[in-house]
Amino acid sequence: KQELLKEMKGKETVTKDGRKIHLYANIGSVSDTAAALMNDAEGIGLFRSEFLYLESEDYPTENEQFLAYKTVAENMAGKKVIIRTLDIGADKQVGYFNLEKEENPALGYRAIRICLTREEIFKTQLRAILRASAFGNISVMFPMIISVEEVKRAKAILEEVKAELRTDGIAYKDIEIGVMIETPASVMISEELAEEVDFFSIGTNDLTQYTLAIDRQNPNLDTFYDPHHPAVLRMIQKTIENGHKGGAWVGICGELGADIELTETFLKMGVDELSVSPTFVLPVRDKVRSLHL
Ligand code: PEP
Ligand code: MG
Repeated sequence: KQELLKEMKGKETVTKDGRKIHLYANIGSVSDTAAALMNDAEGIGLFRSEFLYLESEDYPTENEQFLAYKTVAENMAGKKVIIRTLDIGADKQVGYFNLEKEENPALGYRAIRICLTREEIFKTQLRAILRASAFGNISVMFPMIISVEEVKRAKAILEEVKAELRTDGIAYKDIEIGVMIETPASVMISEELAEEVDFFSIGTNDLTQYTLAIDRQNPNLDTFYDPHHPAVLRMIQKTIENGHKGGAWVGICGELGADIELTETFLKMGVDELSVSPTFVLPVRDKVRSLHL
């Protein structure tokens, strides 16, 4: 088995009949890039930026963030690195944010909702991401989106930050912008969302939680938490169709993307990218290369 996987290194992620997809890795820290590269990931499809905030006693500074993003971009040497903006709240609590205790944190004040109401935190992160973009192939994506207005507002703030950088004479690139599709609302409006962004990345962990109304944190519900549920699979299909209609490419970055029982299904749905934990990169490539669509 090890041998077989080694054989997959340096190979293209392509089916027997020539359908090629991008196969990226999910990372949650700068040091994870080593595992991504060792397993021959073709890029980073999800860089969970929360670690910067979780490991810190206070808000991470622009420069701390910049260095982290720049290091990852440089380590990946021109390969795509998709940085997800802050997804604090719900299961990821940080003391210095002084967030109020909530009855239903998974349905509460988190992620983009914090960023759009506490703009200074968001702007600091976007500035760090844009500055790092000059050193590699960076994209940005916004989590927990439920409306077109949120995306328009996030993009407007990104533009404000770009204008500030230009004034300061600091280099940046015009990076690709994506949204995570991880709420049923975002699936239902995916046709409109696609007009606003370059790509979608489907977060099946939260999408399953919110579609099935099952707390992903509660182990007593494991027997009910079924990411193969037809409702979840149809949501994925609809997202891919609508993304493509609007000219956005569509990937999957939730755990389900690594489920090789579904690789053929996802490819037939037209998925453009799968982003998986580093150790799943080669098994998924092996699976893709065994398929004839
Ligand atoms: C998801 O929800 O599927 C996802 C990839 O994001 P996270 O697991 O960090 O919530
Ligand atoms: Mg999520």
